[in-house]
Amino acid sequence: MVLSPRRRRYPPTRKGRALSACIFCRIAAGEIPSTIVHEDDQCLAFRDIEPRAPTHILIVPRRHISSLDDLTGDDTALAGHLQLVAARLAAAEGLAGRGYRVVVNCGEEGGQSVPHLHVHLLGGRRLGWPPG
Ligand code: AMP
Repeated sequence: MVLSPRRRRYPPTRKGRALSACIFCRIAAGEIPSTIVHEDDQCLAFRDIEPRAPTHILIVPRRHISSLDDLTGDDTALAGHLQLVAARLAAAEGLAGRGYRVVVNCGEEGGQSVPHLHVHLLGGRRLGWPPG
């Protein structure tokens, strides 16, 4: 059924899909520009807009998952894949021998500000511990 523009319930994109409110879903859909460094059928990776280290890349599942809390047993392979992509990108960035950090912030006290699961890859400088 084709709805007239007046009766559409969600704002359409140029491709006719509903706009997502989630910023990382919109990056994955190509609706918001980003510097993408990796893409596959399960995830994409792009440079953080506010880098906290010389290399700061976010690895993001294509499917909307709000946080680590929302992973289920069915997501075991996806969770492993995100880690593997982080390690491969670290190697591509020349960090494999130097060291780097892979971080997932979860929830308010964990410092998560974007409610779409993402893995931070940070490197290129000596990183302090414990994190603030
Ligand atoms: P977190 O605080 O763990 O939720 O991390 C969210 C990260 O997303 C932060 O490091 C932000 O700088 C980053 N971020 C927010 N918006 C964008 C964007 N449009 N493109 C790239 N990175 C972004």
